[in-house]
Amino acid sequence: MKEFKEGYIHSVETMGLVDGPNIRIVIFMQGCILRCSFCHNPDTWVKNINKKMTSKEVVDLVRKYRPYIELGGGVTFSGGEPLVQSEFLLEMLKMCKKAGIHTCIDTSGTGYDINFIDDILKYTDLVILDIKAIDEENYKKLTGKNMEQVNMFIAKLKQHNNKLWLRQVIVPTINDNLDYILKLKEYINQFENVEKIELLPYHNMGKEKYKKLNIKYKLDNIDDMDKDQCKIFENMLKN
Ligand code: SF4
Repeated sequence: MKEFKEGYIHSVETMGLVDGPNIRIVIFMQGCILRCSFCHNPDTWVKNINKKMTSKEVVDLVRKYRPYIELGGGVTFSGGEPLVQSEFLLEMLKMCKKAGIHTCIDTSGTGYDINFIDDILKYTDLVILDIKAIDEENYKKLTGKNMEQVNMFIAKLKQHNNKLWLRQVIVPTINDNLDYILKLKEYINQFENVEKIELLPYHNMGKEKYKKLNIKYKLDNIDDMDKDQCKIFENMLKN
């Protein structure tokens, strides 16, 4: 009898409307190697906690929502960072594709096992790439890591030419300025297959979770980002 890989799932959203085209089943996976200052899911950072499931159990759950999926939706693997459980993710992607389900990963492009990346991209219909920062200094400041991994992931993305949605959180005093937006526009030009660009206004709604987990919240003195201004910046990237 086939043994299915096991992994750790944080939660499942059955009516996701923002993480990919149409209605999505969103699988939030445990584990992340970044520590983004604006992260509102610090409870996903640790890999081996929460619900242990086999790939088959996850995909069976996804299949239950087939009527939505048949309306043009699909499954999105998010997190945390889905690439942290690379082998488990790959098995689920393969099973979904075999079942005719549209697959998407919502990723920062980090934390992966390089041995699985080519296949992961092969079985992924859409990549939502969360850009954290576009230069080493700010990337390090915002995530605690250097850009080596994300740059390698981007090189792989270009080879595979996956369809792409690009996202970036706009944080007051950090990247909410015209100079940054113009540089971001240039950075985005390196990608060929971009279907959508979204700027997400920073909000501090996750702050309470930090208190509960006894983790210092680094953006304590930063206000929420003005949504209208964020939209204006977003439109600048599209024109
Ligand atoms: S990559 Fe996502 S889950 Fe990881 S720290 Fe950043 S925002 Fe949080």
